[in-house]
Amino acid sequence: MSLDGTYDDGNIFARILRGEAPAVRVFEDDHVLAFMDVFPQSRGHALVIPKHSAARTLLDAEPQVVGPLMLGVQRVARAVRSALKPDGISIMQFNGAPAGQTVFHLHVHIIPRWEGQALGRHAGGMADLKELQAVAQQIAAQIT
Ligand code: AMP
Repeated sequence: MSLDGTYDDGNIFARILRGEAPAVRVFEDDHVLAFMDVFPQSRGHALVIPKHSAARTLLDAEPQVVGPLMLGVQRVARAVRSALKPDGISIMQFNGAPAGQTVFHLHVHIIPRWEGQALGRHAGGMADLKELQAVAQQIAAQIT
């Protein structure tokens, strides 16, 4: 999967958006859905995706999708900060398999970081679902 390609609406994030696959949801508005990454690179790792776009990457994204997506990212990142009190937050976004992209529906990672804690492996071990739900609730409670 390179930068070029056709959007496959069977991808896991499209299935989550249609309610066909489960997700630990944190927040949604008219434009974006935020949910917990099930293979988190740190505690509180969340993803934000556009709801109405068939963009595979940021480069494909319609101009009207980018603004609301980034506002959603900022809103969720602020809630992550309030809920989890990290020392830093990595906002990451990968385009194309060689850059680390594994799911081809545009998305942005919000990864809280703590002093002295290395970043976990990308798309590594699966999280405990109960823990994920508890963190999601903490973050959701801080959305303003
Ligand atoms: P990327 O590698 O940038 O395409 O990121 C895709 C992310 O989606 C990875 O961090 C995976 O851990 C995560 N992921 C894959 N499947 C799911 C799923 N069903 N629910 C939540 N996150 C997922």
